[in-house]
Amino acid sequence: MASPEIDALTQALARLPGLGPRSARRAVLHLLKRRETALAPLQAALEAVARSLVTCSVCGNIETRDPCSICTDPKRDPTLLCVVEDVPDLWALDGKRLFAGRFHVLGGRLSALEGVRPEDLAIEALVARISGSEVCEVVLAMNATLEGQTTMHYLADRLAGSGVAITQLAHGLPVGGELDYMDEGTLTLALRARRPVA
Ligand code: ZN
Repeated sequence: MASPEIDALTQALARLPGLGPRSARRAVLHLLKRRETALAPLQAALEAVARSLVTCSVCGNIETRDPCSICTDPKRDPTLLCVVEDVPDLWALDGKRLFAGRFHVLGGRLSALEGVRPEDLAIEALVARISGSEVCEVVLAMNATLEGQTTMHYLADRLAGSGVAITQLAHGLPVGGELDYMDEGTLTLALRARRPVA
């Protein structure tokens, strides 16, 4: 029988996305066999994250200070706001310096299947943030999934009449992409956005 400490760690890991009890047990065993190279670095990294990272109360970014460095950066264009589903999307867009404005993290996307409703996302916070601000354009940078696009259309409706321009990312089949390698969502979107051949 495993010790209570091992059981507790296994259960905590098993609750992580993508891990079940079986992979969690294997991970724990791996950590215990490699204390110096696996357990110690993981412990240090977890402690550092728990100690220093906070969620920005303005945009939802995860960083070492609140408000975060993006929200307080005076060089950012205050008229541009990019709405993303989650923090990794923000990091992807910002890491590549693709966007000169600021961000707003929804914390997920609408999903009937997973029971995610508008009130579960930072949508009212977005509306409040835009109202009376300098924001002129809101870029809805949702993923090209059916749920992402559902969320985008919901937001476009919700923000209509707010006096700001609402734009979306251009989506389509990637250059060189073959239809039978595309997922259903991509194909559906590609079909919906179809236009006459020039
Ligand atoms: Zn922020």
